[in-house]
Amino acid sequence: MSIRIHQINKRFKDFVAVDNVTLELPEGELTALLGPSGSGKTTLLRIIAGLEQPDSGRIEFYGEDATHQHVSDRGVGFVFQHYALFKHMTVYENVAYGLTVKPRRFRPSKDEIRKKVMRLLELVQLDWTAHRYPSQLSGGQRQRIALARALAVEPKVLLLDEPFGALDAKVRAELRRWLRRLHDEIHVTSVFVTHDQEEALEVSDRVVVMNQGRVEQEGTPEEVYDHPANPFVYQFLGNVNRFHTHIESGHARIGNLSIPAPELTDVDQKSGLTYIRPHDFEVLAEKSAENAIHAVIETVLVVGPTVRLELRTDSADELIHVELPKHRFRELGLLQGDDAWLKPLNSRIFLASA
Ligand code: ATP
Repeated sequence: MSIRIHQINKRFKDFVAVDNVTLELPEGELTALLGPSGSGKTTLLRIIAGLEQPDSGRIEFYGEDATHQHVSDRGVGFVFQHYALFKHMTVYENVAYGLTVKPRRFRPSKDEIRKKVMRLLELVQLDWTAHRYPSQLSGGQRQRIALARALAVEPKVLLLDEPFGALDAKVRAELRRWLRRLHDEIHVTSVFVTHDQEEALEVSDRVVVMNQGRVEQEGTPEEVYDHPANPFVYQFLGNVNRFHTHIESGHARIGNLSIPAPELTDVDQKSGLTYIRPHDFEVLAEKSAENAIHAVIETVLVVGPTVRLELRTDSADELIHVELPKHRFRELGLLQGDDAWLKPLNSRIFLASA
């Protein structure tokens, strides 16, 4: 285990920014801190970096207490959204910077620095920009150079705070795939702050979902997406439909629909909420299936290869959101105003107290 975060607390006046967080960040893995704005991700990252002091708690780097260690002694590398490159230096000089300012006895020779910088520039696939200035690069290229610069000093931990936040959607998507491949090559222990669930799920080995300064859940991307620990995580990790549910004899009933829930056979509570993601319905054009929700299609929205439907049920005032592949929707031959039947393929029930 490379970083241990033990019962860390941080307040800003009366505001609790980090609330008793305990975490372990495995060596060589890329961990995403994911949460809505204000959930304490950046504050926690700054505490790990040593840029912010916690009010209480302890941080260990590789078994050593680093809680009061100065930022410059922690061996961390940073890539921040607005951590700009030095404008007056070339790309080469930017990446070499951390090595050239090392105390003389630790500083590599000029030749070693040159080899290392060129190797890093090749790694981020930008060796051809060595003599350019940052203003002559695109935003995405600048962030790749910022990453090469952070890696030059061989950090024990790489910290990235919304590194692609300022870039447009297409470049962001490309860069996160690129970062994933790069991390598979270099395996430096990394912590990545993002509020974008897709980014966290795609890039990281582990996801830590934060809310109001607390950790709601941690696990692999698949674990947190497929088995959300609570309604907050469920809703934060994607769109979801929520149904008031009556629980009775090991079944969850939504209107006349009945979903087996053997795990709830012995609970006293009778009411709960069932969560179903939009792509977790099978849509049928005829009532050939038992146990399906009847609804009328109110809106049809085609978004690239996907069709998004809004349907109104007989009883509920709320709309159900459903997503299905365009070819499947075409096969069904359904149109706006038609009747449809929805069969949940996957659902999750939370008791009302959750
Ligand atoms: P975002 O994605 O918007 O950056 P975040 O999850 O990273 O959000 P933080 O930046 O850690 O959240 O902030 C958590 C809370 O602490 C916010 O409500 C913020 O206003 C507050 N906060 C952060 N830094 C300070 C500070 N130096 N002084 C006062 N309040 C602060």
